[in-house]
Amino acid sequence: MKISEIGERELIKRISAVAARTLTADMLGIGDDAALTKVKENSCLVTSKDLLVEGVHFLLPGITARDLGYKALAVNLSDLAAMGASPHHAFVALAIPPSTDCEFILEFYEGLVDLAFKFKVAVSGGDTVISPGPLVVSVTVQGEVEQGKALLRSGAKAGDLLCTTGELGASAAGLLILEHNLPCAEKIRTQALLAHYRPQPRIKEGKWLAKLGVVTAAMDISDGLSKDVLEICQSSGCGAVFYEDKIPIHPIAAAVAPLQGIEPLALALHGGEDYELLFTIPEELFASTAQSYYETFGRTIIPIGKITEAPEIGMVTKTGKWEKLLIKGYQHF
Ligand SMILES: [Mg+2]
Repeated sequence: MKISEIGERELIKRISAVAARTLTADMLGIGDDAALTKVKENSCLVTSKDLLVEGVHFLLPGITARDLGYKALAVNLSDLAAMGASPHHAFVALAIPPSTDCEFILEFYEGLVDLAFKFKVAVSGGDTVISPGPLVVSVTVQGEVEQGKALLRSGAKAGDLLCTTGELGASAAGLLILEHNLPCAEKIRTQALLAHYRPQPRIKEGKWLAKLGVVTAAMDISDGLSKDVLEICQSSGCGAVFYEDKIPIHPIAAAVAPLQGIEPLALALHGGEDYELLFTIPEELFASTAQSYYETFGRTIIPIGKITEAPEIGMVTKTGKWEKLLIKGYQHF
């Protein structure tokens, strides 16, 4: 059977069944944003790995080497943020076509280090090999979280509020501009490309939420809100409903989407790569948490929906009608 026939979700399920045989009871393996391994009393090692392939995840010469380095680390750190972990180390493996300039690779590392400094991450090792095809970039990050405090995808309960740490759709707007060479104001183009190439992993916010201990489930928004909420629902055994008028459409998405005849809401719901956190919290704890979050970060937690018992994903439209939500988001196979 071909992988394209079963899709990514089923493939991972089957891989996970094999890999799980190697795990012990105090480990968390495949299926969350990162893996957990207990290494010492009260502390867990948190590990995440990502792979980016030229022509699939990025285009050359579209993206600069420096932005590529930054983004390769950012998407990994975002997974640690989703676990509430403090990042410590990064390991970088590159499969490089022989015609690549040495300067390109060094610039790639400069971009990676730009972000590593921000979160005190040590770039500690990796591997370089020759690639007969595209440039392939793989980053592994490791961090730490207090035992029992990691934010997992699996604890959402019916009645919990579904929240996000920020507005959505700006990265997808950047991609839209690149794909269709859309004519738009220079300021909007710059901001959209910045959101697309240099996302901000919500490390501080994730750590803060983990420490507070009120979050029931969490992940980062990478493939798109609609697809990612499905991950939380399937891990937690529940469903969810969004409120259309609460979905925080980024002003950049609102400005860019109409240029391509697309609803801005579609970019926020299905665009992906926003790397904001998506999390659930018991309704009665929302007001105090949101207040305290605002006092800490100067931004608000945005409630966008609710967890439901029925295992389906829906949206209450602006006219008050419940509709089944089409899950789009990024398809890996
Ligand atoms: Mg993730």
